[in-house]
Amino acid sequence: MVTHYFRPATLHVRPGQGRWLGWRIVSNDELTVGVLALQGDVREHLAILAHCGVRAVPVRRERELAAVDGLVIPGGESTTIVKLARHFDLFEPLADRIAGGLPTYGSCAGMILLADRILDGTADQTTFGGIDMTVRRNAFGRQVESFEEHLELAGLAGPPMTAVFIRAPWVEEVGPAPEVLGRIRSGPATGRIVAIRQRHLLATSFHPELTGDARVHEYFVEMVRQSGRNR
Ligand code: GLN
Repeated sequence: MVTHYFRPATLHVRPGQGRWLGWRIVSNDELTVGVLALQGDVREHLAILAHCGVRAVPVRRERELAAVDGLVIPGGESTTIVKLARHFDLFEPLADRIAGGLPTYGSCAGMILLADRILDGTADQTTFGGIDMTVRRNAFGRQVESFEEHLELAGLAGPPMTAVFIRAPWVEEVGPAPEVLGRIRSGPATGRIVAIRQRHLLATSFHPELTGDARVHEYFVEMVRQSGRNR
């Protein structure tokens, strides 16, 4: 299995024109990455994705969803996002695309929405699901509205990342499939999982869109690009 990735710049091919071992090489500017724009930090995610070189578009309608190669589900309020998704007839199409392999990154409320199981949800709270994990809402305690941590994340080069947590969830239990990318390193929540990936799905408890550090988005864009390689 070939595990490394051939960058167009290295091969001197023009975007979209290269072929290598039968794979189409996809460059970032060919990718359309959506941000679910029902509620939350939509603008911040769009700005970082644009900085990563992809076409970044808000997604509110089914036809907009159909046009994206990857999707970010921003932080906000998970119950509200689900209500609005149903209102806009997006819930089922979105759950279907996620189940069908659409690369999706969920931050904070977005992490909750990608969890197969949740704790401390409202009685009838549903999620899109996809990651074999149990996520606890508002896990760090209601008295801790927000805080910052320095995190080392697997797969991200460079110094520890400053991670901002706002009424954040953590991953309480995880099945065999997901890969844990980051844990809290100090304080009472030491060891709690706050970044995780399962195949085409990525989730963080924190909000990388608020700190001007593009590494999580770059990592996600790379996931989108890899998944687009065979199209
Ligand atoms: N506590 C929120 C929820 O349950 C998530 C908070 C956030 O996204 N910043 O949806």
